[in-house]
Amino acid sequence: MGSKCLTQDEITSMIARLKRLAGNLWWTWNQECQDIFHELSPRGWQNLYHNAVAVLQEVSDYELRVRLQDKRFASHVRTTLKTFEAYLNETNTWGRRNAPALLKRPIAYFSAEFGFHETLPIAAGGLGILAGDIARSASDLGIGFVGVSLFYREGYFQQAINQDNWQTEYYTVLNPRYLPIEPVLDAGGSPLTCWVEINLSRVCFQVWRVNVGRCPVFLLDSNRPENEQRFRDLTLHVYGGDSTTRILQEMLLGIGGVRLLRALGIQPSLYHINEGHVAFLTLELMREKVSRGATFEDALAETRSECHFTTHTPVEAGHDRFSPDLIHYAFHQLLPQIAPSAQELLALGRVRPGDALEPFCMTVLALKASRSANAVSELHGEVSRKMWHALYPERAVDEVPIGHVTNGIHMLGWMKGPVRAFWRRKLGARWTREIHQQSFWERMLDPEFVSDEELWALRYKLRRALIEFARRRELFPAVHRSNPEFIRLDSLLNPNALTIGFARRFAAYKRAPLVFQKFESIARLVSDPERPIQFVFAGKAHPMDHEGKRYIQHIIHLSIHSELHNHLVFLDNYDVHVARQMVSGCDIWLNTPRRPLEASGTSGMKIGCNGGLNLSILDGWFREGYDGTNGFAIGPDSHADSVEEQDQVDSENLYEVLANQVIPCFYERDAQGIPRRWIRMIRQAMATLVPRFSTWRMVQEYTEKYYLR
Ligand SMILES: *Cc1c(COP(=O)(O)O)cnc(C)c1O
Repeated sequence: MGSKCLTQDEITSMIARLKRLAGNLWWTWNQECQDIFHELSPRGWQNLYHNAVAVLQEVSDYELRVRLQDKRFASHVRTTLKTFEAYLNETNTWGRRNAPALLKRPIAYFSAEFGFHETLPIAAGGLGILAGDIARSASDLGIGFVGVSLFYREGYFQQAINQDNWQTEYYTVLNPRYLPIEPVLDAGGSPLTCWVEINLSRVCFQVWRVNVGRCPVFLLDSNRPENEQRFRDLTLHVYGGDSTTRILQEMLLGIGGVRLLRALGIQPSLYHINEGHVAFLTLELMREKVSRGATFEDALAETRSECHFTTHTPVEAGHDRFSPDLIHYAFHQLLPQIAPSAQELLALGRVRPGDALEPFCMTVLALKASRSANAVSELHGEVSRKMWHALYPERAVDEVPIGHVTNGIHMLGWMKGPVRAFWRRKLGARWTREIHQQSFWERMLDPEFVSDEELWALRYKLRRALIEFARRRELFPAVHRSNPEFIRLDSLLNPNALTIGFARRFAAYKRAPLVFQKFESIARLVSDPERPIQFVFAGKAHPMDHEGKRYIQHIIHLSIHSELHNHLVFLDNYDVHVARQMVSGCDIWLNTPRRPLEASGTSGMKIGCNGGLNLSILDGWFREGYDGTNGFAIGPDSHADSVEEQDQVDSENLYEVLANQVIPCFYERDAQGIPRRWIRMIRQAMATLVPRFSTWRMVQEYTEKYYLR
């Protein structure tokens, strides 16, 4: 770069490109880009919750122009813009080489939630986070992919803890102006609108576009002046309200989503039904064919050839079921356009088509109207084939047509700055490509490549960052903040202690309090002066789930009033940001689902690239990943029959592994103070788990197994 100052025109063009960059979620997985917004306004970046769009609005154009006269900063911005634009225009992608057909006719990925980043909280949990990670990897791989979901203008709830340590919920309104989303406009420059016949009305919706690297995700929004208030509020909350709201939301998304794609001229080669919530899209595909003269049977057969379905849970309540009355109510106008009679339509959602009392199940609809289906781990595949065997009575259980593709995570998105800097130092600028290679992670077995000392130093840095995050965050309920104890926050957690994390939705089957079942024994481990352990918990309970809320209350209570005080902390308002802190800072990631109910689980995959280890029931993904050298298993590859017995046995096993394997291994130090055996295990985990349980592998597997058929 020369020493000349930038011309006004150059600056104007850079600012326009920077705004385009802020409007693309690419920055959520690019460190250099985040550094720009952080440098522009360190406090804004923090207070606006790492929102590039909002930071650019907070910094005036005049300030931007002035700041870009700083040569070092301008050069950093220019390099990053070039990297971004090269990414968008890259032609030599995996997708172009291996799935060129999808570039013309993309995969339409429908999902009721997409979780990308803390600034856009429109996901309730793992399902949405997974969808977001898939979209990011689809972009990285260069696959033809468009996402379809809803714009929930108050998003998922925020969690507050009241004086009784009880979870309460509140909502904040998301203002699209300050978010990395943009309105989809029609030819005349007005918001594009489409509509869906719901009940007796025509419900109008507008659309927002999220740019996820190279892939768009469209969010439907019914908050339009044309609509009655009850329909404007359909897209208020993620999974809002009762089953009437649910069915109407699902109609808007499934049917409206297909109509949107038509309006945009997008012709998908396949509709990917991500969980039953979105399965009404199949009814719209059928309606289109019937309106062109097809019979009901032919319309179904043709629709089947266009859809793939992924089921995500063996938990009964996770499968939407609607009463026949509700179907009549919601589909009042559309039913006659799809099926010759209500019976035929209802039969699509029933295991026993003739049973007038059987509710309409979205999973059944999805299975009947898709050409292929999959579960999200090997064990979940087995469980799902049993669960839906009745739909295929002529087949043996293991012939039930539900395969599996085990879930993954988008690695770059789950790394914090120091980890990205660590790999960048090792590998230079090409590191973001290398880390997707199996061979890169195999090099982790070689101490010449990365030494024990370096890895241990990284672990210390990350653990301390988490502890300082916990200390800084207003983590205690209000009652505690007015307490003199609050001043002693610096004694909260110990940077040298083995740190165990647990963060997920507080669904009962995940058994958050299981580790405290043997309370006396755990309290002894916690206060061992030589080999202390400590816990960081986080998670939201569904607003209606009192049992989950009791678990939260119990854990917060222990953190304040028991011997675990200062050694156990509950971080409130679990979201992507809190998750990123936890999965990088914890040494051990605890996972205690009631087997086999954790279909896959993904949070444990996020710790691998940060040097953490799993301590887990052999359920979901870890059952496939665990090989005896790359983490810790709780109990055998089987489970007791009764819930009581399972809880009892699992808590005994958990304590046994913790006390006799995990703690001794972590505290076994050599003369240099390095836990060699522990670090060997981290290396094993990196080599065997990280490249395998990533959405990079997963999206390739979907493409080869299901998308290109
Ligand atoms: C990863 C993640 C989840 C999913 O975690 P599970 O282990 O599958 O329960 C849920 N919420 C957030 C915020 C996450 O980051």
